[in-house]
Amino acid sequence: MEKTFNFDVAKIRNDFPILAQKVNDKPLVYFDNGATTQKPKPVIDIINKMHCEYNSNVHRGIHYLSDQSTKMYEAAREKVRAYLNVRHSHEIIFTAGVTASINAVAFSFGEGFVKEGDEIIVSEMEHHSNIVPWQMMCDRKGAKLKVIPFDESGDLRLDEYERLFNSRTKLVSVVHVSNSLGTINPVKEMIAIAHGKNVPVLIDGAQAIQHQTVDVQDLDCDFYAFSGHKIYAPTGIGVLYGKERWLNEMPPYQGGGDMIDRVTFEHTTYSQLPTKFEAGTPNYIGAIGLGAALDYLTGIGLGNIQKYEKELVDYGMEKISGIKGLRLYGTPKNKSGVFSFALEGIHAYDIGMFLDKMGIAVRTGHFCTHPIWEHYKTDGAVRASLAFYNTVEEIDYLCGALEEAKEMLN
Ligand code: PMP
Repeated sequence: MEKTFNFDVAKIRNDFPILAQKVNDKPLVYFDNGATTQKPKPVIDIINKMHCEYNSNVHRGIHYLSDQSTKMYEAAREKVRAYLNVRHSHEIIFTAGVTASINAVAFSFGEGFVKEGDEIIVSEMEHHSNIVPWQMMCDRKGAKLKVIPFDESGDLRLDEYERLFNSRTKLVSVVHVSNSLGTINPVKEMIAIAHGKNVPVLIDGAQAIQHQTVDVQDLDCDFYAFSGHKIYAPTGIGVLYGKERWLNEMPPYQGGGDMIDRVTFEHTTYSQLPTKFEAGTPNYIGAIGLGAALDYLTGIGLGNIQKYEKELVDYGMEKISGIKGLRLYGTPKNKSGVFSFALEGIHAYDIGMFLDKMGIAVRTGHFCTHPIWEHYKTDGAVRASLAFYNTVEEIDYLCGALEEAKEMLN
């Protein structure tokens, strides 16, 4: 492959201790980044440092340790604010992840704004976490889900999208980048269409935020959700960005400590943003780890990461789709580093097991997107998903292993 761009991937790999190990006597090739990403040393170090030096609950104590961890927690919020180009840091709510963020909006927005007969638009390529919370809310409220279909290459049908709106449409919730097809959806355009009809939009950024710059003011989305663990940060921490206007109007979805102003048995008043939506002890160590991950990515430069990943994706597209008997699901106009495929006559699970023996970690199954596989009339696939610590050599190794799998398993 002709490299057009100099990216020191060997140096990057040294920052991720887990990548140096062998699995089944072979060097680990980690292609399950869509499920979760590995963690660089600065993230691992800060978590350790927090436990060794600063651990104390936030927003509660007047003592030194509590003050330190509170400052670090709020500094992490500020880092997320800057990363997403959010206007106010109180528009950043820390949650447990995308699933928690979407459930929070589905509940609170549903309570505040959705009535019987209203409609919510999602797409056919959503992760279950952007379908089920809306279904649950629709059941509670007597509302309905409308679905934007995708075409055979895995692009959303924008013509159909426009036709789904009517006076009962209350919200659109769509994925930025599909975890199964790799489609990078034209969310800015979709948001503009929805806003033209006075409908707010939530974007599920689980598979976008680690691969491209996201500027929520430029997108003008009303909500944006992502998970820390998919952006090289710890598990159990995530973000819900919401425009101040909506967050102020929506009722809280969980009650407890920190989210209150005054509690009596007769009546409780709630605190201001962001704590109104952060009941209980937050995952402050996770948030601080997330802040460290964002610093790490900013240090490398998201533009550099994006350029390198584009080369990897183009290379992977050519090599993987060149394998005879392989069906690639998702050949959209704009594709991220997600390759879901089937090999003729071989069960996905068998391929996954075979690759594992070669030290290659991929995912097999439905990737929490049943409707996508229903669309293709199959029950799932094998998925290799990339991160910026992957290499062209690893893609070559995967392709060689797939050729071997064809011979051995067919
Ligand atoms: N949306 C998409 C597109 C995803 O890929 C995922 C994770 N696979 C989720 C939502 C849910 O993320 P989490 O499990 O971190 O809440």
